[in-house]
Amino acid sequence: MLNIHPVPAFRDNYIWVVHNQNHAAVVDPGMASPVIEFLEHHRLQLSAILITHHHSDHTGGIAELRRRHDVPVYGPAAEAITTVTHPLHEHDHVSLPALPLNLSVIDIAGHTRGHIAYYGSPPFGMVFCGDTLFACGCGRVFEGTPQQMYQSLQKLSRLPDDTLIFCAHEYTLGNVAFAREIDPGNATLIEFELEARQLRQQNTPTVPTTLGLERAINPFLRCEQPQIITSAQRFSGKSSTDPVAIFAILREWKNNF
Ligand code: ZN
Ligand code: FE
Repeated sequence: MLNIHPVPAFRDNYIWVVHNQNHAAVVDPGMASPVIEFLEHHRLQLSAILITHHHSDHTGGIAELRRRHDVPVYGPAAEAITTVTHPLHEHDHVSLPALPLNLSVIDIAGHTRGHIAYYGSPPFGMVFCGDTLFACGCGRVFEGTPQQMYQSLQKLSRLPDDTLIFCAHEYTLGNVAFAREIDPGNATLIEFELEARQLRQQNTPTVPTTLGLERAINPFLRCEQPQIITSAQRFSGKSSTDPVAIFAILREWKNNF
């Protein structure tokens, strides 16, 4: 039985710890101290570190964790992360028999040039997607193009409906406010907003969500839907219906929202 636990870090990061009561893998440890505390408190032995992309809020704790635990560090081959010991390409597999955990690598460039996701297929349908897909939103396009980011989100969108989405930030309420502006009549979104607000009032994470829910509420996965196109056209004054163009308009709009 696998447990997946969010360890909060910085202002709004989640470092995901996957464990079986004995062994643990940690995803995107931007900071070492809260991870060390969690491992010690639960008497867990660290087996591996998994990295989605090079930003320091996802990698800053690697060196300190490695000083204490001699474990492999998996990460994207396309990014220069000096602490990564096992560089990964798309379709590579990460096998952690101690947990057991088997994940495959999906390229999801856009936020950064080499961003990857780790996908666990059913019965553990889950994806660790870093700063690419968020609950009801997506990451900023820093190093890639809107087209790359759109294609990366489409790849994630083709995973099964019940795939759990383990993203790296608690950005949900801000994302929902933006989505409501674009998609005001979406009943599923209105319902999700109520739930998310209640969770945040209790200081509870709103993640993971599921891909099925994201496909219903996340405007960045819905660039072909008439309501989303209409809103993007109204905002931009452009008449394009091309999904990549709609995505680019939404992302730009959200950057200044
Ligand atoms: Zn990032
Ligand atoms: Fe981040």
